[in-house]
Amino acid sequence: MPFLNVEHLKKEKGKREWVDFASDLPPLPADGDYIKLAKPAKFNLVLTNIGDAIAVEGQLDVDLVVVCSRCLDSFVLTMSPVFMDTYYDRAKNAGGSREEDWIPYSGDSIDITPEAINTILVNLPLRFICDDGCRGLCSLCGTNLNKSKCNCEKEEIDPRMAKLKELVTAQEPGGRSQESE
Ligand SMILES: [Zn+2]
Ligand SMILES: [Zn+2]
Repeated sequence: MPFLNVEHLKKEKGKREWVDFASDLPPLPADGDYIKLAKPAKFNLVLTNIGDAIAVEGQLDVDLVVVCSRCLDSFVLTMSPVFMDTYYDRAKNAGGSREEDWIPYSGDSIDITPEAINTILVNLPLRFICDDGCRGLCSLCGTNLNKSKCNCEKEEIDPRMAKLKELVTAQEPGGRSQESE
């Protein structure tokens, strides 16, 4: 899990440190499911002693294993969200001045796992699409159109029948027709 050692940093106001490391993260809870990382997350952070607290800023690089909402295939989504959180020493600053969103830590190291997870979650796209050109699944037979063609696709539709077909497709259980664009 990602830990920041602040043993020296916390003693000197104004001091700054750059850290660069890779660390595992637990699977991320999302939509009642869990998203796994394809490999350890990379952290590229600047730690600054701002007097009452340690400000941590920088970037995460993560490869997430997600499922395309068009074709339902798994793929790796690469993200580089910005990390920005401030931590105060619980022992020193119990009743002192601090901002509402500062996070307490104890001792000489800060476990940034919860904030790292949150940083990724708030930056997730609304929908995962494996590729802009993803053709998705056939709304009639379910064939993955990225991999093969199906007969329904080739079917010529009588314009008078098209309207009827639209109605039938819209009522199909699972409502896949709403996914197509
Ligand atoms: Zn896809
Ligand atoms: Zn089909």
